[in-house]
Amino acid sequence: MSMGNERVAVVGGGIAGLAAALRLRERLGPGATITIFEQGAVLGGKLRTGELAGGPQELGAETFLAGDPGGGESAAVSLARRAGLGDRLVHPGTTQAALVIGGTLADIPGGTLMGVPEDAAQVASVARVVEERDADQGRPLLADGEDTAIGALIRRRFGDEVVDRLVDPLLGGVYAGRADELSLEMTVPALARAAHTERTLTAAVKAAKAASARARAARTGSGNGAAGRPGGPPIFATVDGGLTRLVEAVADAAKAEVRLGLPVRALEPTGDGGWVLTVGAANAGDAAERHRADAIVLAVPAKAAARLLTGVDASVSGVLGRLDYASIALINMALPAAALPNLSGLLIPPVEGLLIKAATFFGVKWPHLRRADGVVQVRASVGRHGEEHLLQRDDAELVTAAHAELSRLLGGALPAPVDTLVQRWGGALPQYAPGHRARITSARETLRAAHPTIALAGAAYDGVGIPLCVRSGENAADDVADVVKASDMSRENA
Ligand SMILES: Cc1cc2nc3c(=O)[nH]c(=O)nc-3n(C[C@H](O)[C@H](O)[C@H](O)COP(=O)(O)OP(=O)(O)OC[C@H]3O[C@@H](n4cnc5c(N)ncnc54)[C@H](O)[C@@H]3O)c2cc1C
Repeated sequence: MSMGNERVAVVGGGIAGLAAALRLRERLGPGATITIFEQGAVLGGKLRTGELAGGPQELGAETFLAGDPGGGESAAVSLARRAGLGDRLVHPGTTQAALVIGGTLADIPGGTLMGVPEDAAQVASVARVVEERDADQGRPLLADGEDTAIGALIRRRFGDEVVDRLVDPLLGGVYAGRADELSLEMTVPALARAAHTERTLTAAVKAAKAASARARAARTGSGNGAAGRPGGPPIFATVDGGLTRLVEAVADAAKAEVRLGLPVRALEPTGDGGWVLTVGAANAGDAAERHRADAIVLAVPAKAAARLLTGVDASVSGVLGRLDYASIALINMALPAAALPNLSGLLIPPVEGLLIKAATFFGVKWPHLRRADGVVQVRASVGRHGEEHLLQRDDAELVTAAHAELSRLLGGALPAPVDTLVQRWGGALPQYAPGHRARITSARETLRAAHPTIALAGAAYDGVGIPLCVRSGENAADDVADVVKASDMSRENA
């Protein structure tokens, strides 16, 4: 290996792997060989734009945060710009969604942190806060190093309604998960940080919001991504034409060798810091391809990473193998001239007992998706963690049930769809249990100590949102690029 001729393999062609590939190209220059192995027929993973009623329709992720919580634009916006799509970024016309409470629509109270209010009045229209529970008990809400299920903390300090009616539906929309199971540190990190110093939840929410406001001010000051909006920078963005366009542009910009339809089945360290990957279908036998690489970015879901790491580090493999995932189905419907309210969509608390957990009114939310023929694309989602049984029905049944529920919630029969498409995502969204961040930090340290030329990236580790997946891909790329460059230097100096 000499400077500029490094060979790096990226396993997994989702957005984390693609972001890693582009960062590797930026770090290692034109001489490096960067190979992406993707078991599917296309790149993108959970980013996939399909077609509904002759227009583009997102079959997976739909949008990403435009700003970084730490200030500046998000890693996803930066990625899109570096891939040449800066002028294709578009923003929602409305982000106002409604909550379903007792079968009717209610405004989602503004100004909360993932549904957690800083005072009872803020959420009084939908949930009662049991204020007397939030007494100062002379110590911070969380002890040093402690994490908790977000639901447990909020039930303890504010009572059940805030969790059941606000936090659960909001988390359900993002993670397909439950407040009583998901880590506070992973879902609302700013609140987790404040909970280590503040002694009431009210004070912690205020402190977390103040910290976020400071970061936002820094971002507005930087002038990035503001797109000239009077009300400040937009919160969300997507790519005109669909997220598959982002996937393709990043792959092009990375100038990577893309190998599709090829699962990586085994990873073997060579002893000199390098790796041999066994690639190809399980029945390929001796014909399976063996690919040599100086370093690897492993950007696959946790179960796949656990399998590939069994022979590399059993303890790390064990930690990853225990990460649970939720499965969901997305029911896409194109409705003719449907009279939909001026909302981006609906969020439905589990306590409502409905099949659907959320709906997005694409044609209302996104000005660039409004159609001349008046057809509006609507997407309902089904399936929270532990609700896999709800998905055991055929596509037609899911469409009929979702259409009926939406009609009822919107106060009248919706017209029959002109086109429908059900997309199922099995094992799609990682469920971060309390303590997740500490477990992952320690697994990464263990792996790095023994094998510094492999790094982990993707939604399994640092968060599900696209910007977090992009950042994790870039960090993994930086980690292995540092190591291969340092080893180049020492060889050249020898
Ligand atoms: C339906 C849905 C909607 C979402 N909506 C949003 C949203 O609007 N905004 C947002 O920010 N986030 C959203 N998310 C979350 C976000 O899309 C994902 O967390 C993110 O795209 C995950 O990227 P990744 O690269 O980590 O993993 P993936 O996208 O899962 O990519 C991993 C890739 O690895 C491949 N692979 C697996 N095993 C192997 C192997 N052995 N060899 C080779 N390849 C392998 C897989 O085929 C896959 O392509 C959504 C997620 C889902 C499921």
